[in-house]
Amino acid sequence: MSEPGLLLIISGPSGVGKGTVCKRLLQKDASTTVSVSATTRQPRQGEVDGENYYFLTKEDFLHKIEEGKFLEWAEVFGNYYGTLKSEVERQLNAGKNIILEIDVQGAMQIKTACPQGIFIFILPPSLEELEKRIRQRATESDGNISIRLAKAQEEIACAVIYDYQIVNDDVDHAVAQILSIIAAEKGKRFC
Ligand code: 5GP
Repeated sequence: MSEPGLLLIISGPSGVGKGTVCKRLLQKDASTTVSVSATTRQPRQGEVDGENYYFLTKEDFLHKIEEGKFLEWAEVFGNYYGTLKSEVERQLNAGKNIILEIDVQGAMQIKTACPQGIFIFILPPSLEELEKRIRQRATESDGNISIRLAKAQEEIACAVIYDYQIVNDDVDHAVAQILSIIAAEKGKRFC
């Protein structure tokens, strides 16, 4: 019997390094993949449509909401972001574990729709370190940085709702912890 994949929901404030952690995780675990979300935000330099995000116009996004194509969606920093049902179903049916790297609003929707999900929150070592990382990324204007920092504090307050909290003080250490969670959760489901 082939094991069904796990649905993993990973949230954390902007700049905490979720993308880097997930990328390294995929390099170490071929049975896990990341869902490609749809968004109305503009691509950043180097981002590729269909790889980083499906970049949609606001009109297309709203149309897909009406058609019921999203498992969850939310407005974040003035843009829409959403997880396509088709993306998740395709990977889970193929027996892959799938990671949704989404914000807290989206995670709460998944908690209602898919309570079997495993909810992981990634924390920065400190707020000072988070601000440093956001500034180093330097893709945002100063105004956006303040907005992202304010939202970060709101999101961190929600970390307790998640099943697991991980501090990203070191990428390899954070990845090792998520791999342990995956192994433990798989064991739990097949005892
Ligand atoms: P960014 O613009 O930096 O790529 O992402 C901004 C925020 O949107 C991050 O907190 C990210 O986790 C969240 N996000 C990305 N994709 C989705 C999604 O499909 N749904 C929801 N709810 N949030 C998302």
